[in-house]
Order: sequence, then C-alpha cells, then structure tokens
Amino acid sequence: MKAIVFERHGPPDVLKYIEVPQPAIKPNEVLVRVKACALNHLDIWVRLGLPGVPIPLPHIPGSDVAGEIAQVGSEVTSVRVGQKVVLAPGVTCGKCPACVSGLDNRCRHFTNLGYMIDGGCAEFVRVPEVNCLPYPENLSFEEAAAVPLVFQTAWHMLVGRAQLQPGEDVLILGASSGVGSAAIQIAKFFGARVIATAGTDEKLQKAKRLGADHGINHKSQKIREEVRRITNKRGVDVVFEHVGTATWDESIASLAPSGRLVTCGATTGFDARIDLRFLFSRQLSLLGSYMGTKSELQTVMKLVAAGRLKPIVDRVFPLAQAAAAHAYLESSSQFGKVVLRV
Ligand SMILES: [Zn+2]
Repeated sequence: MKAIVFERHGPPDVLKYIEVPQPAIKPNEVLVRVKACALNHLDIWVRLGLPGVPIPLPHIPGSDVAGEIAQVGSEVTSVRVGQKVVLAPGVTCGKCPACVSGLDNRCRHFTNLGYMIDGGCAEFVRVPEVNCLPYPENLSFEEAAAVPLVFQTAWHMLVGRAQLQPGEDVLILGASSGVGSAAIQIAKFFGARVIATAGTDEKLQKAKRLGADHGINHKSQKIREEVRRITNKRGVDVVFEHVGTATWDESIASLAPSGRLVTCGATTGFDARIDLRFLFSRQLSLLGSYMGTKSELQTVMKLVAAGRLKPIVDRVFPLAQAAAAHAYLESSSQFGKVVLRV
C-alpha cells in the first residue's frame, strides 16, 4: 500500500510517500481502507520528536481516520466489511480498571493512532474493533475525519473536566485551531457565553459565525484587559488553554474568583509560572486534560450526526502532499482542520 512514512525526525520534508506492506490484523482488529485522515498538532510533535517519547521508526503518522472496513478479524462481531466508519483515535488496553470503568483516556497504555503505533496517513490502517464509531451520513469522508480528536479533546476539557454550566463565561484561546473551533460550538451548546481569541480579525469573524459572542485579537489587544472589559471586571469562569507559555499569564489573569483553567496542550512552550497567592486567595482550579473517552466521543458523534456540532474543514490535500499539508498547518494560517484525502 501507499503510505506517508518518516524514518527520522525533522521538518516536513522527512515525510515520504512510499510503498509499504499492508498491515496484518489481529483477531480483535479490523483493517480500514482510509478515505480521509485529518491532521492535528500532535502530528507535528510526532514528526519533530518529543523528549522522552521514543516514537517507533519508521513511522506512519495520522490520528483521525474516516474510511470503510476492508477486512475483519476472527473475533470481530459488531462491524462488517464494506461499512463506513470513523475511528476513535485512542487505542488502550481495554482491560485495566480505567478502561473497564469507561475512563479509557486514563489507561496507562493509552496511545493514539499515529503516535506510538502506525496511523492513518496510508491506504490502510489496522485498529481494534472497539475503535469503530458509527458513520455520520450527513458528512463527507473529509468532514468525518475532522471530528474525532479535536471534538473529544474539547468535550473532555469543557464537560468532563471543567464541568461547564449554562450561563458561564468561557475564554477560548486559539479559536482558529481545530480544537478551538470545536470548543466554541460545545460551549455554545451548553449555553455558555464565549469570548474567543485569534490572531486576525478575519479569523475572529469566522469564530463569531460559529457562535462566539465576543472576539479578542491577541496580536493587537491585551487578552486580560479585553476580558475585564467584556465581563465588567469580573473575569471568566473557565479558560480553555492549549497555547502554553505565550498565553499562560493572560489566561491566569483572566479568571474570575473560583475560576477554572483547563489545559490540553502547550503549542508555544511548556514553561509557565503561577503566583500561589493568586491561586489560593482567588480559589482557582487548574485542570489538566488529555484526549477524551470513547464514551464521550460516542456522544459527540451523535450530536454531529444530528447537525448540532459540525467539523470545520479549512483545506484538503491529497495524501501524497502530506509534507505540504504539515507545512501549511505549521504556518497557522488555517481556520479549522487540515485534511488529507486518500
Ligand atoms: Zn487500560
């Protein structure tokens, strides 16, 4: 089969479009003919290499897959050959206390397609049967592939961790990212007031069309000052963080008393500081969040199929042009998801 493979870490041009053996499935797995694979910031980290994370090389990246079942293992009972599927990106042991209690994103063996195992930037990918999600027939393959990772991440952050309530104020950083555009829709679905940040006024207009009530241009405006103005000096109940070092101080300063900051990543850097006097006297909560559970993703897919949540696809590239797609994603000029068509 054709696949995008890298043999060493580095810039986008380490991604090669080559012929590799088709994966062999285990009894509890299915082989999926990939039709579309969406990119995530995770793909960039995996390609660049992360300290202390020995990515197996050579490696096929890609976490977000939509396609058709091509082959099923001998123990597979819930899906059949030819069926359209979207894949849950998280692959776990399925046996530990976390997994059996439905908190599979806390599994010690958690990984994503395309992270410690081969992913979907290929004509075929193998995956456990339990990762197959019902296909939302209202979506194209490119749109369906754009759903799983960012929507499950945003849902777990806002609903699972921050327990967002109707009427609360939420600051969503990086509204033009995949996870940001998902978070705006989820926060509005739960009846929150959304303040979104982005680097251009054009992106802020798009964020407002998705439902954001207020926009802050983080290049020309100071986030904490705009939040104070919009909230009548109170601050927001929830900050949705995934930017890291570049926005951390602004995020902390934007919290209302008893506010919660929830973070799933640090695209601009991992180092942050906090004034502990501020943390305890304002009774703030700092919440870490990692991916989401399969159960949450099932809920998300139901809402997507009903048209209540919708993936935002910015641009589609052919699989062979994965390197160009990575470079485009790194340029941060997109609004929503960058997807590879297979
Ligand atoms: Zn487990």
